Amino acid sequence: MKSVSCPVCAWSGWVCEVHTDRPSEVATEGGCSCGGAAAPCKCNPDAVYDFAAVFAAVDPESVKDWVH
Ligand SMILES: [Zn+2]
Ligand SMILES: [Zn+2]
Repeated sequence: MKSVSCPVCAWSGWVCEVHTDRPSEVATEGGCSCGGAAAPCKCNPDAVYDFAAVFAAVDPESVKDWVH
């Protein structure tokens, strides 16, 4: 049973790649706005949250590997 209760990433499972003590704006509204990429938070070491889906919401053009 996995319980995500992490204020570092604001429960999103993702932090800013540059500032790993802040939630990523890619995955979290109001997250770090430095423009850094998202990186898995320490509470999300296996990246259980769908990384592709996170980025698809931001830039669908960047997703080239949709399920065929
Ligand atoms: Zn976290
Ligand atoms: Zn940042």
